[in-house]
Amino acid sequence: MSRNALINELRAIAGEHYVLIEKEDVIVYEQDGSIFQVMPEIVVLPANVEQVSAVIKAAKRANVPIVPRGSGTGLAGGAVPAEGGIVLSLARLDRILKIDLPNRIAIVEPGVINQDVTKAVAKDGFFYAPDPSSQAACSIGGNVANNSGGPHTLAYGVTTNHVLGLEVVLDDGQIIWLGGEVPDTPGYDLCGIFVGSEGTLGIVTKIAVRLMKTRESVRTLLAVFDQMDHATQTVVDITGAGIIPAALEMMDRTTIEAVERGAPVGLPRDAEAVLIVEVEGVREQTERAVEVARGICQRNGAREARVARDESERQLLWKGRKGAFGAMGALAPNYYVQDGVVPRSQLPEIMRRIAEISKQYNLRIANVFHAGDGNLHPNILFDMRTPGELDRVVEAGAATLRACIELGGSITGEHGIGIEKKAYIGLLFNEADLEAMSRVRKVFDPDGRFNPAKLFPTPVSCGEVRRQPANIPAGLWL
Ligand SMILES: Cc1cc2nc3c(=O)[nH]c(=O)nc-3n(C[C@H](O)[C@H](O)[C@H](O)COP(=O)(O)OP(=O)(O)OC[C@H]3O[C@@H](n4cnc5c(N)ncnc54)[C@H](O)[C@@H]3O)c2cc1C
Repeated sequence: MSRNALINELRAIAGEHYVLIEKEDVIVYEQDGSIFQVMPEIVVLPANVEQVSAVIKAAKRANVPIVPRGSGTGLAGGAVPAEGGIVLSLARLDRILKIDLPNRIAIVEPGVINQDVTKAVAKDGFFYAPDPSSQAACSIGGNVANNSGGPHTLAYGVTTNHVLGLEVVLDDGQIIWLGGEVPDTPGYDLCGIFVGSEGTLGIVTKIAVRLMKTRESVRTLLAVFDQMDHATQTVVDITGAGIIPAALEMMDRTTIEAVERGAPVGLPRDAEAVLIVEVEGVREQTERAVEVARGICQRNGAREARVARDESERQLLWKGRKGAFGAMGALAPNYYVQDGVVPRSQLPEIMRRIAEISKQYNLRIANVFHAGDGNLHPNILFDMRTPGELDRVVEAGAATLRACIELGGSITGEHGIGIEKKAYIGLLFNEADLEAMSRVRKVFDPDGRFNPAKLFPTPVSCGEVRRQPANIPAGLWL
């Protein structure tokens, strides 16, 4: 099928306005939150599952790739059309279709913004637990594809723990349900396979999510440290004491500087690190847990450990934490967020190693992360305009990941593999592991057209060779 014939067919399916081909229209889809850029050839914005199915059938006939896209906040290049084809935006599938409080579920379309699920049920005393810091912008479809986490997943788990069922469109356009509205449907856990598959198996068009009851009491503690080692040891000691906070987040001195310059919330600029410890539950339990946590902070040398007096003070702390990535712009024109994991007990050592990497590559690194999960987010600050700097940034990022693996951790805690980390996946999995995963992919995507050039190393197993997109600068292709 010619390009023009495909465009005409897509226009007949989605309507003329919703098929974008001009450079000034498609340019906004060339990037996600990562450092990868590829100009899309065609962007389609279907309105419903029938249109999604028809677009997929057309793409199959034309033999072109399909790259699903939610809100484009991903940090691993997952929504970037690395091998061209059709960028399929799910942004118009944005309805909350059903809220069933007695059964504690909601059914939503993939373009629904994460935070809007909680907003829809908060007045009835419920919430949707996975809360990426990007929750005001990212979509539930993107969360499912990346199996996203957030500050509160320490206690509640990541997206896969909150998805009961999925409607998906397969490679031949068939629309099927995986899982359902009740837990533990019989047979293979295909819903579980789709969560975290980064758009490589099919298109998610409906999601049955679990709703949780708002806790009776929430207490949030801010602890201020003059030494990073003391802060990291506190994380180890709090979880070691058997307290599972709902959230246990850390910001280092550079991040505090960014927040206080960008959107100040009153964090102490001279501190080496602050911890936000949040506990939730029945009142007596949270009062006791927050006092135990406060005692551990003090024993580890916290200069200050104070509990937020009221909801507005608590919200201010979270505003600082959740706005931290955005505030990096106050320190540098560009930043590259890494995402690695270490066992919690290795937090003191990994933070020392990141400090060494920062010196070795002569780059500022701001750390803001889900410390309770051992999930790190070093933000490497740089200026794209400085010749050679980006290459050093990529090398520093790689050094961070190698350090995580050496310490018994992994190369991603929540942002996914995408383009960014596929060269590293071989450090975690052997050939047989990758072969098994690639066979699963082939069952759902025999032609390799769903989000190609993602997840698997290049060349992938089974003799399949992937072309390196010419318009990704070599230095960016890890
Ligand atoms: C400031 C900031 C803070 C962040 N904080 C966190 C955090 O705390 N925790 C965390 O986990 N992540 C975080 N992220 C990363 C990002 O927000 C998440 O990965 C999020 O889930 C991406 O959602 P999205 O809608 O933007 O997806 P996109 O970026 O559009 O796409 C992400 C992936 O999902 C696929 N996809 C999208 N929709 C579908 C669909 N319907 N069917 C199949 N595949 C699909 C895409 O192909 C791509 O591979 C942060 C990002 C930013 C910019």
